[in-house]
Amino acid sequence: MTDDAQDPADQYARVVVIGAGQAGLSVGYHLRRLGLTPGSDLVLLDRAPSTGGAWQFRWEALRLGAAHRVHDLPGMNAMGLRFDDADRSRPARDVVGEYYRRFEQHYDLRVRRPVAVSSVSRAHDRLCVVTSSPDGRTARIAAEVVVNASGTWGTPFVPWYPGRDVFRGRQVDTTEYRNATEFAGQDVVVVGGGTSAIGFLLELDGVAARTRWFTRRPMVWSDTAALDLEAAVAAVDEQDRAARAGETLPSIVSGTGVPVTRRIRAGIDRGVLRESPMFTRLDETGVVTADGEHVHADAVVWATGFRADLRHLAPLHLRTAAGGVVVEDGRSVDEPRLFLAGYGPQASTIGANRAGRRIARQVMDVLTAE
Ligand code: FAD
Repeated sequence: MTDDAQDPADQYARVVVIGAGQAGLSVGYHLRRLGLTPGSDLVLLDRAPSTGGAWQFRWEALRLGAAHRVHDLPGMNAMGLRFDDADRSRPARDVVGEYYRRFEQHYDLRVRRPVAVSSVSRAHDRLCVVTSSPDGRTARIAAEVVVNASGTWGTPFVPWYPGRDVFRGRQVDTTEYRNATEFAGQDVVVVGGGTSAIGFLLELDGVAARTRWFTRRPMVWSDTAALDLEAAVAAVDEQDRAARAGETLPSIVSGTGVPVTRRIRAGIDRGVLRESPMFTRLDETGVVTADGEHVHADAVVWATGFRADLRHLAPLHLRTAAGGVVVEDGRSVDEPRLFLAGYGPQASTIGANRAGRRIARQVMDVLTAE
């Protein structure tokens, strides 16, 4: 029994879903179809101020298109909405925010926001979900089942390199990058081998004075302009293996290669997208490469990926020594009343969609078995 078990809950819900991004909305949609009522026995919570999941925070220049493709949520086509028909001249954050808002309204999902979940713990035969609102109010919800769909945006990963603490310029991670004009006339070092780093370099080209690109591994360009499906299957399988073994999750792009769109091809040809092997350290004014070259930098942009944001699950003690949580088919092996949607092999919009259906069915099995 934990401390949480001592206090009565303020509310009871059969299922609490944490997060209303692609994964949480997909689960919510299917649970509603299977008979749960949003707002009473199904409660969706999101700490962000608006609709769109993590997309609402993405940088201005990001557009939906070849490199960034968001799959339609289940039930979206029945509303006459398709991301493929969306206006590609508008920022992705606005388009996705708007589509999700219409989706939530249409299916009456009653997402409560901004409500942050600060902890999930065991309390008798229930899970206790503690929430906090920006006005400082806290509440406890006793739930039979919790579906965690909190994504990764809250936990950007920045690797440690010697000198990170002595560098006098600006350091930003992917979640802090707004637009290229913030770096106008500066020397900018971009770190990371994924589509975020590539997007930043292309946007900074012609705005920053100079850019240099560093990656841990040589880039693997995929010849197709769309994701190579076979490589994608292998990368998702690798995510699944890591999730089942309770390991930290590898990056998807490291397994698939980056598709060369026309824009990327032009960047490679112009020499903007030419990576150097990772530098060995930073100093006060820049970075130093393995062969001793000093590269001056006013700013370092760390586009080095994310980790699953599971901090609020800490009281459940699910972390393994290998750094992950053991998850099989979207369900925690060590806490069977907890599901993780959008985790590991489900961490794409199409994966999140599939997760929604599979997890919702399993949740109903738990509820009816009680
Ligand atoms: P999110 O969209 O992150 O939603 C999680 C939600 O949980 C958020 O709204 C957050 O506010 C909420 N939350 C988190 N913690 C708490 C808490 N403690 N309490 C309450 N609420 C909480 N995938 C694709 O398929 N196509 C793409 O083009 C693509 N582009 C990407 C570009 C970038 C830069 C990144 C970082 C990822 C991209 N992805 C893409 C992966 C993408 O993030 C996922 O596909 C999808 O958006 C993730 O959905 P999600 O619901 O799991 O997470």
